[in-house]
Amino acid sequence: MDFRLTDKQIEHRKECYKVCAELEKKKPKNWVGFESQFDNDEGWAFHRYCAKEFAKRGWLSLGWPKEYGGTGDMMEKVLFAEARGYYDLAGSDIFGVSMLAPTLLAAGSEELKKEFLPKIASAELMFCELWSEPNSGSDLAGLQASAVRKGDEFIVNGQKTWNTGAHRADWAFGVYKSDPNAKKHHNLTFILCDMKTPGITVKGIPYMSGTHVYNEVYLDDVHMPAKYIVGQENEGWAVVNVLAGFERSNLDMVYGLVRGLEDLVHFCNENNRGGQPLSKDPMVRNKVADLACQLEAVRTLAYRVADQQNRNEMGLMDAAAVKVFASELMEKYAHVACDIMGPYGQVKHSKFAKMNGAPEYTYQGCFVPIVSMGTNEIQRNIIAWYGLGLPRMK
Ligand SMILES: Cc1cc2nc3c(=O)[nH]c(=O)nc-3n(C[C@H](O)[C@H](O)[C@H](O)COP(=O)(O)OP(=O)(O)OC[C@H]3O[C@@H](n4cnc5c(N)ncnc54)[C@H](O)[C@@H]3O)c2cc1C
Repeated sequence: MDFRLTDKQIEHRKECYKVCAELEKKKPKNWVGFESQFDNDEGWAFHRYCAKEFAKRGWLSLGWPKEYGGTGDMMEKVLFAEARGYYDLAGSDIFGVSMLAPTLLAAGSEELKKEFLPKIASAELMFCELWSEPNSGSDLAGLQASAVRKGDEFIVNGQKTWNTGAHRADWAFGVYKSDPNAKKHHNLTFILCDMKTPGITVKGIPYMSGTHVYNEVYLDDVHMPAKYIVGQENEGWAVVNVLAGFERSNLDMVYGLVRGLEDLVHFCNENNRGGQPLSKDPMVRNKVADLACQLEAVRTLAYRVADQQNRNEMGLMDAAAVKVFASELMEKYAHVACDIMGPYGQVKHSKFAKMNGAPEYTYQGCFVPIVSMGTNEIQRNIIAWYGLGLPRMK
């Protein structure tokens, strides 16, 4: 691929940085990254405010085909995400904008596209993902929540878990067992559902940082209209795979590290240890330079993914590789930053916190992308089976 940006892309990037720099000034106090948007009402209101600002510029539908209101260029979506990440902003619903919308474009009926794409592009609806269950995470296809067809609707019962942002979301996309007698992988149906439907109960799972981001969701005789099936009845596994590709190849989580690295370099220049600036310590320099190399690699990877997606050539192995590389880079950054900063790296919301407490936040949060979206062990298995042709383990 040609890594040079076009004039239009350069202009777009400039505009994204300008708008995000303005929005950064309006962040609520103690805002730190992804968690703040779900944790409290002020954070959620700021997320929705940013989303509306982006929506009115058409930035939530970047990369979509022109007939659905997009630009047809995934690269513009990447450049927008870089700017948002640099200023640590929310405003783009990871579930609706980055996962469901491209899945609907690839596998949804015309009716579903017409109903949901405009609402995602205008930030009217925010989604959550109801997939995992207490006994079905890695083995998602073995899930038990049942969807029994009764005329033109399904009656759904069961429990989902670890559902990010389910307490805030307007709608959910979920997957349920719709044919108990059919073969595995041909017995699930992928259905969209309004989170206000009677019978849905959401209970928070407190994260170790004390925030409320994750949830358990209980479904008791929930009536879901069959018109909200994505793909074919009982063939929801195929849709799960399409969506998982978009979920795992979404590099939004690492863009904030570009700013994080800049801030860390600044910290090293400004702070002494053993009578000299940290920036003169060879071990520190080595670690920071290593991070810089990997960040440059991840940027290149993001551009390559955009290029592949523009050509509909994103494979299962590529998505898994992106997920492993990006999540482990985030973990590495968190460890290196906290290590270099010493006690300063262990506080946030404190007068002693540096960099707004971001390293401590990243340290506690960096487990999330390693486990969620399918653990990195599972991603390595996918790379081995689908990418390298190694035998599948039972
Ligand atoms: C913070 C967080 C947010 C999440 N958000 C969501 C969400 O919004 N929606 C949603 O539906 N789910 C969500 N999840 C669930 C997530 O997808 C699952 O936790 C994940 O797929 C792992 O499943 P599990 O927890 O059941 O672990 P298990 O599947 O029980 O795995 C336990 C361990 O065994 C390993 N393992 C299992 N099978 C194999 C194998 N075949 N080969 C090698 N190793 C294996 C795993 O890698 C892991 O280390 C989230 C999870 C977390 C932690």
